[in-house]
Amino acid sequence: MSKKPNILIVYTGGTIGMIKDYKTKALKAFDFSQIIENIPELEQLNCNIKSISFDEPIDSSNMNTSYYKDIAEIIEVNYKKYDGFVVLTGSDTMSYISSAISFMFENLQKPIIFTGSQLPIGDLRTDAKENLITSIEIACSQKDNKPVISEVCLYFEYKLYRANRTTKINAEQFEAFTSMNYPPLAESGVHLNFNEYYIYKPKGEIKELVVRKTLINDIVILKLFPGITEKVVYSILNVNSLRGVILETYGAGNSINKPWFLNQLQEAISKNIKIINVTQCAGGSVMQGHYETSVGLKEIGVIGGKDITTESAIAKLMYLLNENLSLKEFTFYFEKSLRGEISGS
Ligand code: ASP
Repeated sequence: MSKKPNILIVYTGGTIGMIKDYKTKALKAFDFSQIIENIPELEQLNCNIKSISFDEPIDSSNMNTSYYKDIAEIIEVNYKKYDGFVVLTGSDTMSYISSAISFMFENLQKPIIFTGSQLPIGDLRTDAKENLITSIEIACSQKDNKPVISEVCLYFEYKLYRANRTTKINAEQFEAFTSMNYPPLAESGVHLNFNEYYIYKPKGEIKELVVRKTLINDIVILKLFPGITEKVVYSILNVNSLRGVILETYGAGNSINKPWFLNQLQEAISKNIKIINVTQCAGGSVMQGHYETSVGLKEIGVIGGKDITTESAIAKLMYLLNENLSLKEFTFYFEKSLRGEISGS
């Protein structure tokens, strides 16, 4: 008989462990370190569960790259001891956090499942229990003595997604996330069904885990809207020590193609600022050069983000900026799928 899998729950904060402040009536994080004691149902799962908590749990709105590093270090230190990891964070920035963790872990061989909830675990109608219990089941799932999942995922409301493909789309409904450009990796109903074809499978020899903990956050999202002014674009592109820009364009990657705009972007690129073209649309892909309004972007060296999400593009930019790459190399790696975040490459 094979041994029971060991699962580590990493609790960082979020609604799942919040309570109502009796004075302000606002939800705030509380000490949820005794997770297992709070949810007796966890004892029925066929695995050994341990948990570790941030000293001061946070609302995920306060997340930053230093917390990403803390999460990565907890997993790295415990990597050999555990068969899978379930990370609890607030849902508000869960897609950003989990996308970043996906780039920080190279050659991952074990599941890292992010989850949380829309209602606190103590609430009568909570979605927290199902999300947590199924995430643990997924983290435990093995086939031929190997984990079924060996990538960073996000589980919410009966669906398991590749984390770096997700976006939070609803502030109220339990179905808070979607993955428009990549199908769910598993769906849970009466049975837990894995969509094997879409799950990442490590190929070739097993390589040593590499954890990259330095991320560059001197970056900005520049979201276009009709009427955006020259001076606003100028101030954004001239932020002191700016290293990268996610340019959120229209449709298939289209933007203003007037000289005042393109010249400013070109000037930024000449200062070694990397500019990535990501669509504002929830689904579909950037195709630079498809319309006249994106030809100029391509010509001046704006990098096409294809069907990457903004959350994932932010994470990938933070990661690649630390790699000291030339514009050519940077473009090559950005346009290539590194963790399954981009289709067809
Ligand atoms: N504001 C909360 C957070 O992101 C919402 C949640 O947990 O879903 O921490």
